[in-house]
Amino acid sequence: MSKNIKKIGVLTSGGDAPGMNAAIRSVVRTCAYHGIECAGIFRGYQGMIEGDFKTMDARSVKGIINKGGTMLKSARSKEFMTPEGRKKAYDQLIKANIDALVVIGGDGSFTGAMVFNKEFDFPVMGIPGTIDNDIYGSTHTLGYDTALNTVVDAVDKIRDTASSHDRLFFIEVMGRDVGHIALNVGVGAGAEEVLIPEEDLGLDRLLESLHRSKKSGKSSSIVIVAEGDKIGKNVFELKDYVDEHMSEYEVRVSVLGHMQRGGSPSCFDRVLASRMGVKAVESLLEGKSTLMVGLMHDDMVLTPLDQAIKGQSKINLELLRVSEIMTT
Ligand code: ATP
Repeated sequence: MSKNIKKIGVLTSGGDAPGMNAAIRSVVRTCAYHGIECAGIFRGYQGMIEGDFKTMDARSVKGIINKGGTMLKSARSKEFMTPEGRKKAYDQLIKANIDALVVIGGDGSFTGAMVFNKEFDFPVMGIPGTIDNDIYGSTHTLGYDTALNTVVDAVDKIRDTASSHDRLFFIEVMGRDVGHIALNVGVGAGAEEVLIPEEDLGLDRLLESLHRSKKSGKSSSIVIVAEGDKIGKNVFELKDYVDEHMSEYEVRVSVLGHMQRGGSPSCFDRVLASRMGVKAVESLLEGKSTLMVGLMHDDMVLTPLDQAIKGQSKINLELLRVSEIMTT
C-alpha cells in the first residue's frame, strides 16, 4: 500500500445516476477500513473549486445505499474547464490535505479528471456513473441496470393503455449516443420496433413493420425510440409522419425524460457500486492513477481513462436479431 495517500476526496459529477450513493458509501467505508481519511466534495468540480468539503467517516454514509440521486449533489462546472478554475481547485485540495480523488461520473467528468491529473500530477480514479452505459471498459455503468428496470416498468404501464385503445405509442427513452436502454427495453417489454443511434432503420421500413404488425392481428404497438436515433426525426415528427401514412392507428407519444434517472438502485447496482468503490480506493492506495474501474466477465478491471472516454461502448448485435425475431 502507498504510504503517500492519507486522505481521499470523493465527488459525483455530470448527470446523476442511481447507485452513486452506494458508491460514495463504499469509497468512504473502504477508506475507513484502511485507516485513511475521506472527504466528501459537494457539487462536483464546482464544489472542489469552492472548497465545499466535508470529512466523512463510516457512520456518515449510513442509510444511503438504497437512495437514488447523490447525497454529495452533482453539478456541471464551466470554471473547471479553465486553467484558472483548476488551479483554484488544486489549491483547495492541498489546503484540505487531500492526496487523491475518486471521480464518479461520465465521460466529461473523466476528461476533467485527466486534464487535472496532467496539470498537477494529482492521483485520480474514475467510477463510471451514468444510466446510458456509454462508457468503454465496463459492461455496466452505475445506474444502467436500475434505469432498465424503471423504463421497462413504465413501458409495461403504457402498454396497458395502448392495448385498451388500440393505439400505437412512440416512447422516447434516454440514449443520445448509444441504444443500450432502447434495445434492452425493446426486447424486455416486447416492443414492435426499436430505433437506436447505431442503426438507421429508415422510415419506409418502419411503416412496413407497423403494417405487418397490424396485419398479424396485433391491436396495439409500441415503438421504443432512443433520444439519439438516426432516422432523422424526433419522436413528435415520427408521430406526424405515421399519422399521415397510416390512418389505421391512433398514434400517441410518451417522452419518459428524467424519471429514468431516479429511484432506488437495483440490487445489481448496489453490489456493483460497492465493488467499484473498494477497487477504486485500493487501486489508489497501490499507487495507481488515471484509471477507471469497470466490470468485465464479473471481474473488476481497470482501464486507462483516455481509453474509457475514446473507446466505444458497443450494443449487442445478437440482441438486435432477437428483437427482430420476437416481433414475428
Ligand atoms: P453525463 O454522461 O451524465 O453527461 P458527464 O460526466 O459526461 O456525465 P459532463 O457535463 O460532460 O458530464 O461533464 C461534467 C463536468 O466535467 C463538466 O461540467 C466540467 O466541469 C468537467 N469537464 C468536462 N470536460 C472537461 C474538459 N475538457 N476539461 C476540464 N473539465 C471538463
